Amino acid sequence: MNVSILYQLFLKSTGVSTDTRKIEKGNLFFALKGPNFNANEFAAKALEMGASTVVIDDPAYFIEDDERYFIAEDALEMLQKLANHHRHQLSIPIIGLTGSNGKTTSKELLHAVLKKKFKTAATKGNLNNHIGVPLTLLEIKPEHEIAIVEMGANKQGDIQELCEIAEPTHGFITNIGKAHLEGMGGPEGVLKTKTELYQHLRANKGKVFINSKDPILSNMIKRFENPVLYPAKGDFCEVEFHGANPFVKFSVEGVPGEHLTSLIGTYNFGNIANALTVGKFFGVPLKDAVEGVVGYKPENMRSQLIEKRSNLIILDAYNANPSSMEGAIRTFGKMSGKKHKMIILGDMFEMGDYAEEEHRKLGEIVSEYEIDKVCFTGKLIVSALEKAPKALYFPDPFSLRNWLEDSKLEDYLILIKGSRGMKLEGLVDFI
Ligand code: ATP
Ligand code: MG
Repeated sequence: MNVSILYQLFLKSTGVSTDTRKIEKGNLFFALKGPNFNANEFAAKALEMGASTVVIDDPAYFIEDDERYFIAEDALEMLQKLANHHRHQLSIPIIGLTGSNGKTTSKELLHAVLKKKFKTAATKGNLNNHIGVPLTLLEIKPEHEIAIVEMGANKQGDIQELCEIAEPTHGFITNIGKAHLEGMGGPEGVLKTKTELYQHLRANKGKVFINSKDPILSNMIKRFENPVLYPAKGDFCEVEFHGANPFVKFSVEGVPGEHLTSLIGTYNFGNIANALTVGKFFGVPLKDAVEGVVGYKPENMRSQLIEKRSNLIILDAYNANPSSMEGAIRTFGKMSGKKHKMIILGDMFEMGDYAEEEHRKLGEIVSEYEIDKVCFTGKLIVSALEKAPKALYFPDPFSLRNWLEDSKLEDYLILIKGSRGMKLEGLVDFI
């Protein structure tokens, strides 16, 4: 069967699902395979739960004469084809964005800005991979006037593949840092992967936005015809305490005054600048755009503020890589507002051969600042001790818990950051 027949079924459906636990009546269900599951097994269950059609790729589960079954060579590929087919029916701007850090934050900020003028579709949560991007596209409805698609990568070629599905007309890269070093083949690989978005736009006469403050991205300006460059000269951003809360404030040319956000960490200025620049390009009045940014409240674990007795905790346990760690440490290093400061850093994963060196660098960066207590936890971060010999070391978060409980900290500003797998949010209860 071909994609146009499936598309007719899609148009009649109530949406697409890949998870039997979340099926809604009338959904088009795709039976995907993963390393530990084969959703072909759940096709019958999906129909029972209300799916109108199931797309499977294992003939063993096909039921002859049942029109609700649609057999494809590869269900995932069919999902991607369907999404691309849908994309071709749309004549709206599609803004693609990628980068090592700040994709979701930039996407949410841009959504808050574009919403002021357009009916805007945007990636939900972090659905940014080879499954998430098609699902995002299939959520774009006829009434939408513009769409934002977050694109993530684990290895070279990923962004190119996502571009071929989404065919963005506009795009920007948040930054080129050091995330997923292992899968991407080192820093050069990261650069190559992330710039696949710009290559795609260049080949298809799309519009490129470039943050000229970014040391790596700024080198690319010459390669493009009329890129949109930002931020403007007078724009700035810094952290300001409101009560005990270290929020980012910014100012921009064209809207008088300083604007206080609910974001933490000066690196967010890049994310704010992305949103304001793209918003301005599409004609959102700057005043409304600023209002959108100021009104945005970050989601859980992306730099959340937690008050515990007299302590204030900045919990950034959602993810960590060398560039986001450095940004977080440097911002924290300049903060004040409590009598003492403590930093808790956990392992960064997916670093491969770079693990030892990159963790060692963390020790070096931390040592540049006056911080009363520095704690490292995890197996990989042990190399940070070389450059920060006074730091306390805990082989696992469990031993750190006990120490925290005994320490009974008071009047501390505390930064907690580590990779998702370290689950450092579990420490908060022990402070
Ligand atoms: P993922 O790869 O999980 O999709 P992401 O790129 O979407 O991540 P965000 O979820 O926006 O990134 O932010 C995750 C963390 O990265 C933040 O909590 C913060 O520590 C850090 N971060 C965000 N923006 C930047 C930035 N512009 N530069 C450096 N670090 C950043
Ligand atoms: Mg994200």
